[in-house]
Amino acid sequence: AFVAIEGIDGSGKSTVILQLAEMLPKVYVTREPSGGPIGRLIKEWALKGGTIDPHVDALLFAADRIEHYKREIEPKVREGYIVISERYIESSIAYQGAAGVPIDFIKIINSAVPKADITIILDVDPEIAIARIKQRGDSEKYEHSAFLKRVREIYLQRAREEGYPVVDASRPPNVVAKDVAEIITQMLNY
Ligand code: C5P
Repeated sequence: AFVAIEGIDGSGKSTVILQLAEMLPKVYVTREPSGGPIGRLIKEWALKGGTIDPHVDALLFAADRIEHYKREIEPKVREGYIVISERYIESSIAYQGAAGVPIDFIKIINSAVPKADITIILDVDPEIAIARIKQRGDSEKYEHSAFLKRVREIYLQRAREEGYPVVDASRPPNVVAKDVAEIITQMLNY
């Protein structure tokens, strides 16, 4: 099975996924951008302000996603793993959508890969998320609050449209992870 964990910067995706790996059997953890050549280009160039138009980011993320899916995710699913990816198609819809790229365009360029079997949104107020990032002393770039508010709204709108479960991620990570694990086991019919 293939599970995508989504949410704004500072929503606790990485922490929750680490805990999920301990709670569920045979988990394979991965993230976007991938470790492949396009993923590296995104990390080392696009996300460092290299691109001049968010359509380019959308295209790079979509290209990386196809490679990531075909080279890593699909084979691991076939081997019987529960593959958990930190970010997937909904990240592009939310982030590149918030940056002004039409959602229909994002959907079309992502149509070469299937949707995740389960998509879960970790939802938190951007102010809380930003406070967390500052607290962990993360020097990594994160988006400012007005942008993250737009990203969050798109995630929530997508959750309503697609029926994705939304988990309150303002709570402690172990509580959030427990909820997420329950949703996954229920949806997988364990
Ligand atoms: O996953 P992580 O929190 O490390 O992502 C860091 C940054 O990557 C986000 O703040 C966002 O700016 C960017 N990103 C993006 N579009 C995506 C995925 C991530 O712009 N599809």
